[in-house]
Amino acid sequence: MTSIQDLTARELPVWCPSCGDFNLLHALKTALAGLGIPQENVVLTSGIGCGSKLPHFVNTYGFEGLHGRGIPVATGAKLVNPALTVITVAGDGDIYGIGGNHFMHTMRRNIDMTLIVQNNAVYGLTKGQYSPTTRRGTKTPSSPNGSLEEPINPMALGIIMGATYVARAFAYDIQHMTGLIKSGIAHKGFSIIDVLQPCATYNKVNDVAWYRRNVYRLEDEGHDPGDKPKALEKAMEWAEGRIPTGLFYQVSGKPTYDQEATNHAVVNDDISDIDIRPLLAKAK
Ligand code: SF4
Repeated sequence: MTSIQDLTARELPVWCPSCGDFNLLHALKTALAGLGIPQENVVLTSGIGCGSKLPHFVNTYGFEGLHGRGIPVATGAKLVNPALTVITVAGDGDIYGIGGNHFMHTMRRNIDMTLIVQNNAVYGLTKGQYSPTTRRGTKTPSSPNGSLEEPINPMALGIIMGATYVARAFAYDIQHMTGLIKSGIAHKGFSIIDVLQPCATYNKVNDVAWYRRNVYRLEDEGHDPGDKPKALEKAMEWAEGRIPTGLFYQVSGKPTYDQEATNHAVVNDDISDIDIRPLLAKAK
């Protein structure tokens, strides 16, 4: 049985005080411990960003890759060893911007993995430029007169692009977030959990108090995650006091790409009779 203590790495986070990443780190370790998945069967991948340091702080296998590229590494790990629990953590700029292509097409394939997005609506590591989820009109160092772009809608994209588990959490509703992460990891297929979180240093608008005033839980209003049209309607909702969190959409039993593409642990294949020397000689 893996405990939270087992999952705690020796290296300590150096995020700014009150950064939502701390709560997410705790929620992820709690969810993994609750699911009882042996730590050696978990792979955490990430790209670049403040939150992308997270794999360093969890005592599982981890890989911090290039900007926006956490998903391709996760896909490779899952394809060669489908028995692994594969999770990517990414910032909003990282995965909805630079890695947007991977984001969309991996959902379409329904690979059995979990994507957790640390969505604070800015690029934190590079000093607060606007990101794909920054609301139109927001002033940032890269949009001094206010952003001219409409933000993307990750929940609506998830539902229409083929993700089979689509949820949004709030980083300061820790128990709720933990439950969503736990069920997302347990779900067979592509899960996305978009986590609304403050960046205390660079986002002075969407702070903890702002979120507390504006978010509500879908389950408190009896939302049925099996109802796709209703899920899409809820994904379009974003207004004062009406930002839904919780499970928007879930469908079970759909084939996953890893199942259909390999359906066995390639990592266990016998390669003792394979000689790659002719191939290497050709490459010279
Ligand atoms: Fe967190 Fe923002 Fe600080 Fe980065 S800059 S560690 S996202 S609070």
